[in-house]
Amino acid sequence: MQKQCFDLDPLGDVLLTLRCPNQLDLSWRSLIFAKPRKSAEGSDESESRPKSNAPTASVDEPNAHDETEDVQFLLSSRHLSLASPVFGTMLSGGWKESTVLIERPRKIARLENSYTTNSESQPRHQITATEWNTEAFLLLMNIIHGHHRKVPQKVDLETLAHFSILVDYYKCQEITEVFARIWIEKLAPSLPRSHCPPSMIWIFVSWVFSNASIFEKMTELALKGSQGPLETLCLPLPSVVLDAFEEKRTSSLQKMMHAVDEFRNGLLNSSIGCDLACTCMLLGALIKQSDRLIHGQHVQRSIKQVKLDFQGFETPAWGSLDSRGRATRHDCSIASQLMPAVDKVWYNLKGLKSDDYRVQKENEVPKV
Ligand SMILES: [Zn+2]
Repeated sequence: MQKQCFDLDPLGDVLLTLRCPNQLDLSWRSLIFAKPRKSAEGSDESESRPKSNAPTASVDEPNAHDETEDVQFLLSSRHLSLASPVFGTMLSGGWKESTVLIERPRKIARLENSYTTNSESQPRHQITATEWNTEAFLLLMNIIHGHHRKVPQKVDLETLAHFSILVDYYKCQEITEVFARIWIEKLAPSLPRSHCPPSMIWIFVSWVFSNASIFEKMTELALKGSQGPLETLCLPLPSVVLDAFEEKRTSSLQKMMHAVDEFRNGLLNSSIGCDLACTCMLLGALIKQSDRLIHGQHVQRSIKQVKLDFQGFETPAWGSLDSRGRATRHDCSIASQLMPAVDKVWYNLKGLKSDDYRVQKENEVPKV
């Protein structure tokens, strides 16, 4: 079978071969797009549009070929180096494993490239990459090489996620941020309203493109909805963000559990409750319903689930008899006494501020 080859620069001096393309999306595709629509609350259902609607931004349909087949790109080293310090290092010989100077280059026309118009072109560099999404990579190359008329005005969230991975890896935010801002603005009205795989994608996209507002909103959803450390799918969020997230999530969970402990202690020492009968009734009901949470089960529960558990605590209906022997219901309840402290933790729990971790991100170096 003839290899796919995209000719971004007819006189290009870089031949990039993408091996085993389209491998990165397997984990989250099954999570997002195989689920029933209702599982992605608030997400745009049009996001999972078929590949036939993919941007046809170049000389061929990126995914029309066998997805395991190598894909080649004829590129310009100057454009790549100006747009990306990672490519710059690669092409200056910094990464010997990635760049090969061809001593006796074959003509591009013989490199299975039916699109190359200049048969005398001879690529000076050969670069290999693996697993990237072909469509997103082509999108990035069109932007870097100035083929902006081939760049669509709108992309779906999955493509934006793949694109963000590339931008993060090759560190080319500057040349892509105008397009990313347009795409994000068009997708933003359908931001998720609860934590789900699309909200995780949004965390990564907003991190890569420094959208502090979306990053804070989506991390707040994750802090409240995650049942454990953040499931990043395969999105390379830096560890400084993941550590901060988990620290904030666990400390907020502890604050909620502490609110229950404080309530229990208040009933024990009678600083809460009207009288002995009131404290006994509330304490008994609380102990009976909270033990399963306090003794371990909450570890695997999200903050949102724990809050709902507390809201669901029942107070038995009880009362006292007045002088005429009529029963009067006692109004104190666990909910009225406990939930103000729990709600305080809930409403004070905000998302992460990306700027707090930006310095560490800029200092990171790509792993090769
Ligand atoms: Zn009472």
